[in-house]
Amino acid sequence: MDFQQVFGKPPETQASAPGRVNLLGEHTDYNDGFVLPTAIPQSTMVQLGFSSDASGGLRLRQHHFYSENLNEQVSISDINHTPSGFASYIFGCIELLQKAGYTIPSLCVYVKSSVPMGSGLSSSAALEVATLRALRQLLNLPIDDVEIAQFAQQAEIQYAGVQCGIMDQMASSLADTEHILFLDTRTLERRVMPLPEKAEILVIDSGVPRTLAGSGYNQRRAECEEAARSLKVKALRDITDVNVTKTLPEPLQRRARHVVTENNRVLEVLQGVTSERFGELMNASHASLRDDYEVSVPALDRLVEILQKTEGVFGARLTGAGFGGASVALVRSGESKGIATHVLEQYNQAGYNGQILVPSLGLTDAA
Ligand code: ADP
Ligand code: MG
Repeated sequence: MDFQQVFGKPPETQASAPGRVNLLGEHTDYNDGFVLPTAIPQSTMVQLGFSSDASGGLRLRQHHFYSENLNEQVSISDINHTPSGFASYIFGCIELLQKAGYTIPSLCVYVKSSVPMGSGLSSSAALEVATLRALRQLLNLPIDDVEIAQFAQQAEIQYAGVQCGIMDQMASSLADTEHILFLDTRTLERRVMPLPEKAEILVIDSGVPRTLAGSGYNQRRAECEEAARSLKVKALRDITDVNVTKTLPEPLQRRARHVVTENNRVLEVLQGVTSERFGELMNASHASLRDDYEVSVPALDRLVEILQKTEGVFGARLTGAGFGGASVALVRSGESKGIATHVLEQYNQAGYNGQILVPSLGLTDAA
């Protein structure tokens, strides 16, 4: 089904936005720290058209959203708007623009994506940013890419009910596949930098669902807040000397040590590092997430260990909140598919169901 088949006319405009993967700086965003995501080749495309119907004969707006991935259509009017599921992300973007003073007409919205949903590659941010880009284009809105990320984050928080930081939306809005985005999550200071030399990104899912991710994540957040309170700082980002954390009781000491060393690893990249050094920092990040932050699981440790031992891999670590989910590796240019085949052969022999997410096999860019 394309736009024409769903809505009976061609779209007025379209825009797309990529998913993302975080290369370094894990569990640092809620500590006001530093992150280093990059865009992935998979993207979400949003097409827009004007909808002519007004609900109930009144001059109310009536939107129609269709997702090709879900093969699902949802209609939302001004008087009946408690959208759930994918419609809440799109409706949130529309409503926030409306509240900011822009007049948004009734819309037909068509969504098509190659970003895997719910795998930690931020299909949600890609959907929001693509929606906002398409709206900016259709209505000539004077909003820049940072404002798009901010509207997108608020749509996810206020309408989809996800308490997210701004990393995903900033990455989708400002990064591309050739660049990494350094982001200071406190000040939003940022720098777009080239990917490390002669290197590319490989993302492999462990096949282990992130079952404990919710409770574990909340517990880690609480531990970090307690550690910051004990050290009398606003957030752990304010600690730069790892020795300062030695005064903390366990497990707070280890949690704080992860955050401080992880921030320092990101800052080292900012100074400019080789691909080899970048890889070492990723390996150190994994060890820290496993031993100090305790958010890894045996499957992820195994997958990362195989990756790290494989020729052509600069470095590898778990990515995302942990407790399952995906790994990310920095590998020699042009070798990611061969490396993935080799790694998955070994990993899946142990009974796991790992699969390659980036680069995408078979799936083409939606745009
Ligand atoms: P992630 O962002 O890591 O992929 P999330 O749980 O944050 O995982 O977001 C996934 C949700 O985003 C989906 O359940 C769906 O509601 C919405 N979504 C993302 N992409 C699409 C799409 N192409 N079509 C419909 N819904 C989508
Ligand atoms: Mg998401």
